[in-house]
Amino acid sequence: MRHRIAVIGGGPAGLTFARVLHRHGHPVTILERDPAPDARPPGGVLDLHERMGQLALGKAGLLAEFQALSRPEGQAMRILDVDGTVLRDWRPRPGDRANPEIDRGQLRDLLLGPLDVQWGRGVTEVVPRTGDGVLVRFADGRQETFDLVVGADGAWSRVRPAVSSATPHYTGITLVETSLDDVDTRHPDLARLIGDGSMAVYGVNRGLVAQRNSGGHVKVYAQFRAPLDWHTSLDRHMGLNRRAGMNAGMNAGMDTGLDTGLDLADAEAMRSSLLALFDGWAAPVLDLLRHGTAFVHRPLYVLPVSHTWAHVAGVTLLGDAAHLMPPLGVGANLAMLEGAELAESVAAAPGPADLDEAVRAFEEQMWARAGGWAKITMAGLERLVSPDPTEALALFDEVQPS
Ligand SMILES: Cc1cc2nc3c(=O)[nH]c(=O)nc-3n(C[C@H](O)[C@H](O)[C@H](O)COP(=O)(O)OP(=O)(O)OC[C@H]3O[C@@H](n4cnc5c(N)ncnc54)[C@H](O)[C@@H]3O)c2cc1C
Repeated sequence: MRHRIAVIGGGPAGLTFARVLHRHGHPVTILERDPAPDARPPGGVLDLHERMGQLALGKAGLLAEFQALSRPEGQAMRILDVDGTVLRDWRPRPGDRANPEIDRGQLRDLLLGPLDVQWGRGVTEVVPRTGDGVLVRFADGRQETFDLVVGADGAWSRVRPAVSSATPHYTGITLVETSLDDVDTRHPDLARLIGDGSMAVYGVNRGLVAQRNSGGHVKVYAQFRAPLDWHTSLDRHMGLNRRAGMNAGMNAGMDTGLDTGLDLADAEAMRSSLLALFDGWAAPVLDLLRHGTAFVHRPLYVLPVSHTWAHVAGVTLLGDAAHLMPPLGVGANLAMLEGAELAESVAAAPGPADLDEAVRAFEEQMWARAGGWAKITMAGLERLVSPDPTEALALFDEVQPS
């Protein structure tokens, strides 16, 4: 018996789910809000762990292709102090394929393969238990019905309200992302500083992380503790004056009377505010901000740790929609593993009662595993962006002993 299955969202969770079902010969409707695969920049690199993301790719029959595309050398990690002194310089051993890096765009294309995604189909609402199954409403006014609707639509899921009233809350930590292109030819000193993988500098309540993507592209994340509306009044919220960024000799925190707020879309204003925030850090480290192009504001939100819900027949969640957690290298891995596991369970369920039982069992397993990771990543975030920067180093030594 063929169940009518829809997955909402074509991110790592949704595409892995669909690809594994496809491998099992089971049809699935993939509904994605973006109008096209390349409608927006895909984001930074992901390191896929052997027992999570890579396991999922194995279930999709894509491990060999992943190994050909991914960059094991990208596992390298260097930690500097704010004066630019290298504190740790970890490199993978030859043949170490525990967590190789892959660009998100490459991963998306790998998963897409033969899948037939319906692009430009934003879902607005999912209504369980209607007469003929689960009703999906779309932004264009259309609606369709399925036996199982899988919400893989990320942090701000429109499927989640069908099973849970939980909403993400702000962690108190914000990222601002910028990037550099052709770093090896245009910024060779920075290329050497970053190395083959990632480089991180941790100061009091703030950090700067640079991650190498393929093709000489580098993503830089400035991370800092701040109220959600920090940008509306820099003097008041951050003790910052933006002249400090323009004039390194001036003391940050001096009242300038310029506290008019920051236009997040103004790249130069963002740059000078960040330079003021990181004032006093080594010049080569600050070059990551000086040479950054566009700046993207990403306040970090999370769902409650151990988010669960009373099972609702015909609807479930995967990935960030189910357990949004801090970005400490686990979210996409979990999302993919869950996608693969749910697909295998669904493919093995012959009748409607088996399908419901398979989803129920999957949810129990997902909640137990994701709850553990949510605790670990929340505690990790607190230590990485901490009043005591030695906490970040201690965390690195625990996770990556030399
Ligand atoms: C800065 C940063 C760095 C990170 N680094 C890592 C890392 O190194 N390793 C790691 O494992 N994780 C990392 N993560 C976490 C990772 O990005 C997420 O956990 C992962 O993308 C979750 O996948 P997903 O498929 O659940 O959701 P998403 O990737 O958010 O995909 C959701 C999809 O649903 C679509 N969608 C949304 N709403 C609708 C709608 N209403 N209708 C239809 N479609 C919709 C979206 O367009 C999107 O394509 C990082 C996160 C951040 C912010």
